[in-house]
Amino acid sequence: MIEEKTHELIAMEDRYGAHNYHPLDLVVERAAGVWLYDVDGKRYLDCISAYSAVNQGHCHPRIAEALLAQAQKVTLVSRAMRNDRLPRFLKKLTEFCGFEVALPMNTGAEAVETAIKLARRYAYDIKGVAHDKAEIIVFNNNFHGRTTSIISASSEASYKRSFGPFTPGFILIEYGNFDALQAAINQNTAAILIEPIQGEGGVNIPPPGFLKRAWGLCKEHEVLFMADEIQTGFGRTGTMFATEHDSIKPDVLIVGKALGGGYYPVSAALASKKLMDLFKPGDHGSTFGGNPLACAVAEAALGVLVDENLAENAQTMGTLLMDGLRACKSPRIKEVRGRGLLVGIEFHKPARPFASALLQRGIACKDTHVNVLRLAPPLVINREEIEMLLEHFKDASSEF
Ligand SMILES: *Cc1c(COP(=O)(O)O)cnc(C)c1O
Repeated sequence: MIEEKTHELIAMEDRYGAHNYHPLDLVVERAAGVWLYDVDGKRYLDCISAYSAVNQGHCHPRIAEALLAQAQKVTLVSRAMRNDRLPRFLKKLTEFCGFEVALPMNTGAEAVETAIKLARRYAYDIKGVAHDKAEIIVFNNNFHGRTTSIISASSEASYKRSFGPFTPGFILIEYGNFDALQAAINQNTAAILIEPIQGEGGVNIPPPGFLKRAWGLCKEHEVLFMADEIQTGFGRTGTMFATEHDSIKPDVLIVGKALGGGYYPVSAALASKKLMDLFKPGDHGSTFGGNPLACAVAEAALGVLVDENLAENAQTMGTLLMDGLRACKSPRIKEVRGRGLLVGIEFHKPARPFASALLQRGIACKDTHVNVLRLAPPLVINREEIEMLLEHFKDASSEF
């Protein structure tokens, strides 16, 4: 079934690369909007969107233009000096997200690390927690990245096996359990670090009211509410940020992925000026963070989200998709859940074979947390494409 060229490239990658992934047998050569094209010319509907890093659709011409124009001017000077793109980007990003200040980084994990450092410094320098005693509360099935400290906060055995010793100071509790949160907070608690919807964890949505109550509890105990919206942010769930569904404003907002429009890794941690001023010159940084190329790309990426009403489209198309999936009524499906275009289908058994069946039909999607299939196409998807996706889904489920 796998074509010659595809086969050859897969063998080559397996020969020369580390085996830290188990990718689909799909070798992409080019992409546009919601479509991927493999090396043998076959077309696929992308329902992964690089884990929400291409919300704006693949190779968006406006972002490409910004990237190319900036690439011919200046791309990197490091933060040893200033560059003319950074101020404009920071102004745009903070206004867009509704925060006073932002600290730019590159990958999501680096922005999470930034938030962790900020929370710890807050604990010692503002809250008065005893030296090295600060605690950050995290939640079962979280995904915040792959650094040694971040995996220390994970509940996933495979992320951690033989990678110790781990960074102390993380308290793991059940996701969505308010009583557990109440019990875990003490005078050493610096922050909670939470995904408003867990993406990698299997598209898990906390019980109604949980986020709002958790936020209130944090306020009461001077605990920072740090929202990791790296996957849920920038329109994915039908609002610009998932925390908007619960009308809460986090103390620290962590963004990444779609901020780079699929072109470039751009991430940031946002907070109040008072909080961010805890960082002094030399305390934290990144060679590439806030470089002019990243700033130009991110500005264009944000512009596309607004001008193309992508959050609104995610809401409309997501509803259409979930209604269609629920109408399937396959006995193999346990539950369809999601918000906007972050949709999870939980099966009674592993979802991987179903993902393979869909791939054969030209739908690229992946299982997460064994039994869950995640559907998260670029937010530029239209009605016909959703209908096509549903057709193939019905087809595959009757066979599977
Ligand atoms: C992808 C992701 C990260 C890590 O981002 P990287 O760019 O891969 O380091 C962190 N948190 C969440 C919720 C994510 O989805």
